This record gives sequence, C-alpha cells and structure tokens, in this order.
Amino acid sequence: MDKQYDLLITNVKVVRPNHSELYDHDIAVKDGKIVAVGADLGTDATKIIDGKGHLAFPGAIDAHMHIGIYQPLDKDAVTESMAAASGGVTTAMTYIRTGSYYLNQGGSWRDFFPEVLKLSEGNYYVDYAYHVSPIESLQLDEFEYMAVEQGAPNFGEVFMFYGSHGLHGRSDDQRKWLMLAEHDNYDIGHFDAICRAAAQLQTQHPEIAPYVQVSWHCETPELLRKYEPLAQKSDLTGLAAYSAARPPHQEATAIATAASLVYHAGLTQSNILHITSRAAMDAALAARATYPSVTFGMEVTAGHLILDYENCSAGAKGKVNPPLRSADDREYLWKHVLDGTIEWVITNHANCPPDMKLNADDPENIWKARAGFGGTEYLLPGVFSEGTKRGLSPNRVAELVAWTPSRRMGVLNKGDIATGYCADIVLLDPNEQWTIRGADSHSTQAYTPFEGIEVTGRVKQTFLRGELVFDNGEIVGERKGRYVSRPTKPV
Ligand SMILES: [Zn+2]
Repeated sequence: MDKQYDLLITNVKVVRPNHSELYDHDIAVKDGKIVAVGADLGTDATKIIDGKGHLAFPGAIDAHMHIGIYQPLDKDAVTESMAAASGGVTTAMTYIRTGSYYLNQGGSWRDFFPEVLKLSEGNYYVDYAYHVSPIESLQLDEFEYMAVEQGAPNFGEVFMFYGSHGLHGRSDDQRKWLMLAEHDNYDIGHFDAICRAAAQLQTQHPEIAPYVQVSWHCETPELLRKYEPLAQKSDLTGLAAYSAARPPHQEATAIATAASLVYHAGLTQSNILHITSRAAMDAALAARATYPSVTFGMEVTAGHLILDYENCSAGAKGKVNPPLRSADDREYLWKHVLDGTIEWVITNHANCPPDMKLNADDPENIWKARAGFGGTEYLLPGVFSEGTKRGLSPNRVAELVAWTPSRRMGVLNKGDIATGYCADIVLLDPNEQWTIRGADSHSTQAYTPFEGIEVTGRVKQTFLRGELVFDNGEIVGERKGRYVSRPTKPV
C-alpha cells in the first residue's frame, strides 16, 4: 500500500527564515515537496531519516556563481554542483555572458542560450539557473526573449570595468575579447541602453516587473588604469597591492554611476553585487537614499566576509574582482549584514584550477594571475560559523543564504521549510568543528583561499526535492538538477 509520505525527517530543529525560534518538528515530503511540518507526524513513510538533533535549513541558493567560466560548462557543472551540494547549496545560479571564456561565442542570445541549456542538462547535482550579461547591442533587442521565453529576467552582471580590463588585468584588446561588433562599444552608453531596455520590458510585462533587474559589477576602468601602475610601483605586495590597484573609491564611483543610470532610465529594480568595502557600502546606502523609487538589492560574498588581504595567506590564489579588502572593510560589511542592510550572501564561485589561476613562469606574480576562485561549498557553513560568532541567529542565516535570494531572484517555490515548498533541505551539525582544506573539496579547483579557516558547523546531509544528494561526506544518487525558469509559481 502507498505510504502517506515518501520521506520523513525526524529529530531536527527546523530553521525558518523570518522566525525567531527553532522548532522541534518533523518534516514530511511527498513528490518532492514539503507536505507537512510539525510535531510527531507519525511513521507512515517510505523512508525515515533520523536528523540526530541537527539544524534543518532550507537549501541555500547561491545566486551568484560562474559555472563554466574556466572549464567547459558541461564538465564544470558536474564537479562544481557536487561542491554546491556538499555545502548545502541546492540552487546554483550562474552569471554567464557571450565573448571569451564560457562558450567562447559571440552573437545572439537566441543561439547562445539554448546551447547553455543543452550543456547544462543532466550535468547538475542541484537545481540551476542563469543570469545573462548584455555584451553586444543586438542582445538589447532580446530582453523579452530571455525574460519571458527563457525565464531569466535578471540582466547582468554588467561588468563595468571590461572596457579596459579582462580577467588578468589591463588589456588593449577588450573589443576582440568581448567579441564586439564594429559599431558596438562597451561603455557607459551601453550600460545606459541596458537600463532602458530593462525598463521598457518592465512596462511591457508588468506581471514579471519585480524580477526584471539589472545587476552590476561596480568597478571604474578609468580609475583602474591610473591606480594599477601606482600600486605596482609602491612598496605593497600581493593581495594588499591588488586592493590598492583597484581601490575602494573606484567601486564607490561606479556604484554612483550605475545608480544614476538605473534611476534615469525609470528602472525600478537593480542589484549592487558583491559590495566589498566601506566606501562601496556607503555609496550603495547613498544610492538608496537618493533614489527611493528604485529597489537596490545589496549583495556581499562569503569571501569578503571571511577573508581580508591580511588574514588570507593564499597570495595570488586569493586574487578576485573586486579585491579582498582590509579587516576594517570586512567588519564594516558584517555590521551591515547584522543590521539587515545587506540582504543576501553569495560566493561568486568561479572554479579556476591552479594551472589557469597562476602564471606558469611566474606563479607568485599577482598581476599575471587570473581573477576568481570557488567556494560555494563554504557558503552556508562559513556564514553560519562566522555569523554566529557575531550574534547572527540561524534564522537570519537562512534569510541571507536562502529566503532573500529566493524572493529577489523569483525562485518562489524555494527558500523556506514550510508546506508547499520544494523539499530542498540541509541538515547541519551546529557543533562540529572542522578546518577548510582545498584538497577535501569536491570542486576540481584543489586549492582554496579559505585554506586553514576553522569552521564550527558542518553540513551532514543535503536533500534536493526530497532526494538525498549529499550524505556525510559523499555525493550520492544521480544528477537530477533541473533548470529553474523564473519567476516560478509562488507557493
Ligand atoms: Zn562580478
């Protein structure tokens, strides 16, 4: 006879966002969805899991990743979604674009995006989605196609520094690198056109308007050009020199520019991605105060909350854009996480294997290293460990890594542990202490700038739509991740 539930998770403390306590409840799952949460739901289930008193979090949504940037997308999806599942991330959202890296392909999104989906299918252990960054002007006519037909209404990230800088640093062939058409320019004029195209889409499709957004990587190329040679000539070395080459105020300047473009285009939704510094944070706050008609989402990476250029011993392996900052900047970000100003945390995960990360002839040279590193597997445990030290409750952790990104990105059937939601559930032992070692990760990156960081709180099991995908250190089961077309139906 058919059992009442497919899965029953007992003996857990349920962590709900927007609540202030933990609940000693069971979680019942049927057909991939949560069908009941409460005390003593009986035993009529095909499978019963004893949660051993661990915390049950909603699956994390890493809303800012770069799967497929340095490795072929189909291959990267396999290993990096293993890393995601091992850290409790059940939805992996990648910012992708045309041009060099990724598919090494320019042109229309109508050719590009179906290829992205084809390479993704069957290769992810967790659910996945994409945000596309408008690079060429012909893509400005395809916003409706991406948002309405493909369910990808968040446009970005707008890489404001790509006019003069690639993934290593200064470059004179960015036009070729971005595969721009002859009449195209990658500059403020293009960014303005992006905002106007998005605003027009909001008017044409009011039903999805809250999810039509432009998301910004805020760095100013003209200032990078000036400060990079100064930093190279200075006494600074390593990550501190790299931060000086891309100083905080150039981030702040880009934020002010982006905010002005958004407001004057009449666009109401925009995200300031990976804020790294006090100066950038203050500029983002100023943008909110100046343009109250715009909803500016504020995002920070787990890397910038955990690492700074002093405590990170990884040298050139810790190179990322925008750079790791000072300890003072890091604590200023925490202050705004704790007071709720910063609304979600992501990882900017970009698996950059050692042979690509560092220059073969000059591996110590920060200027020749490529930017970016992985870390999605440390999102939930990292924010939990460092956050609880600073007074953050588990409920607030659930808001930062699951609930708020789900609302902002239109993944409306995920982000909470409640009846009707996808059964994306993570069991975390809040007391287990462990040390981050790159060699232990499921990612193929093999090193990590987080090396040696002590963490309290470890993911033990991860369920994707009711199926166990990660079990006490091992990836289990098959690759059943599905594409999430947004906005999904609300619960
Ligand atoms: Zn970025």
